[in-house]
Amino acid sequence: MSQYDYDLLVIGAGSGGVRASRFAAQYGAKVGIIEERYLGGTCVNVGCVPKKLFVFASHYRETFHSAPGYGWQAGSIKFDWNQLRQNKDKEIERLNGIYERLLDTAGVDIIDGSGQLKGPHEVAVGDKTYTAKHLLLAVGGWPWVPDIPGAEHAITSNEAFYLDELPERIVIVGGGYIAVEFAGIFNGLGVETHLCYRGDLFLRGFDSDLRKHLAQEMPKKGIHLHFNSDIDRIEKAEKGRLTVHTDQGATFEAGQVMYATGRHPKTEGLGLENTGVALTDDGHIRVNALFQTDEPSIHALGDVTGPAELTPVALAQGMILARHLFGNEKSAPLDYRIVPTAVFSQPTMATCGLTEEEARAEYANIDIYRGAFRPMQYTLPDINERALVKLVVDRDTDRVLGCHMVGPEAGEIMQGLGVAMTAGATKTDFDRTIGIHPTLAEEFVTLRQPVES
Ligand code: NDP
Repeated sequence: MSQYDYDLLVIGAGSGGVRASRFAAQYGAKVGIIEERYLGGTCVNVGCVPKKLFVFASHYRETFHSAPGYGWQAGSIKFDWNQLRQNKDKEIERLNGIYERLLDTAGVDIIDGSGQLKGPHEVAVGDKTYTAKHLLLAVGGWPWVPDIPGAEHAITSNEAFYLDELPERIVIVGGGYIAVEFAGIFNGLGVETHLCYRGDLFLRGFDSDLRKHLAQEMPKKGIHLHFNSDIDRIEKAEKGRLTVHTDQGATFEAGQVMYATGRHPKTEGLGLENTGVALTDDGHIRVNALFQTDEPSIHALGDVTGPAELTPVALAQGMILARHLFGNEKSAPLDYRIVPTAVFSQPTMATCGLTEEEARAEYANIDIYRGAFRPMQYTLPDINERALVKLVVDRDTDRVLGCHMVGPEAGEIMQGLGVAMTAGATKTDFDRTIGIHPTLAEEFVTLRQPVES
């Protein structure tokens, strides 16, 4: 008989927490999972899943617009936001149910409520206290809005998924994944969309050719980009309209202002002070390569720990941890340098591996292969949009260090290239790969001459 109620008690039933608990239970551990809000976490409820559904919805405008180029004449076209919202909500409910069943089937106890650490092995939920040999913190993050006058009038991505009606005009503040993705969504759904970013060029940390290319293409879709433009204050005017004042002296009237200025680790109220768990300088929970915190019985993973705040990374971490604690199996540590990722902007941007800037800082001899062209599907409708593909190669070993792309289906294409990158593909491997013609993806295997060295 164990001295504890559980072998593993998880706080947070998002992607990482659910994956770790299911796998731990399948290895025979007695597992409980505490959740105060919704099963599936940010990804399922107010993140990846509803976002992608909205991205699909927003693409239809361009599809209808392109249709005459292919001989299709559509009648009058109407968009119903409430219908989209309801259908999306129904799908999220279905997924919540699937998560519940997965946990039930695996034999994981679901505990409703908010968990607060009371010690290295104890968690209080309301007036009950549970004990466990291992605790796992997988509480994720929460949108953060800077403290400017009128910030209370702004929404975040959390609310954007549940708006009663679409505004005629929206101002989006920020220049990361969420700002750029929602700019495409709102614009595609017919909202006049202004994106204000405080720096010279959005999407800091991505390859600069991609950032520049996207900044050139998004306005062609109708999105208004305002760089070097931060918000000083927001005022509420009549009929709920908002006036946004920028630090450049410009003002915008808008029905909604959405802040996408980052997400902060959700550690408040977690009771970390009752344990030896320590934080990093930027407020994430500090862990080692096997997700152990400074308190040996407590592990943490997913967005609350940093290094790559992405669902598939949290899933991988959850599996590695379950194997490590209960499976007696060794996994190689996660390589955060080869994480394929897509920003579902319009056009989509996707990337895997090192940016040109990172590669040049680390390697002596870098070759850059690049191609920009109009995707075939835009020829008949005569849409003036260009795609970009780019490879970063270490000339000394021939190893492909980075794959980058802006264009239709970039996320789908990059997933396959991620396999090649993980397997350590060289430029010669790319060159001897037969293309699929005519596709956009074949451009990656037909780049013959470096454009820069
Ligand atoms: P990001 O960290 O990606 O971007 C935050 C943006 O806000 C940056 O442009 C930053 O500017 C800006 N910013 C920060 N502080 C301020 C401030 N005080 N005033 C004005 N601007 C500010 O956060 P997101 O909220 O976009 O997304 C959170 C995370 O969620 C992402 O990092 C990503 O990991 C994940 N995500 C992944 C998605 C996907 O896989 N497709 C989709 C959505 C989210 P600066 O660069 O100048 O600091």
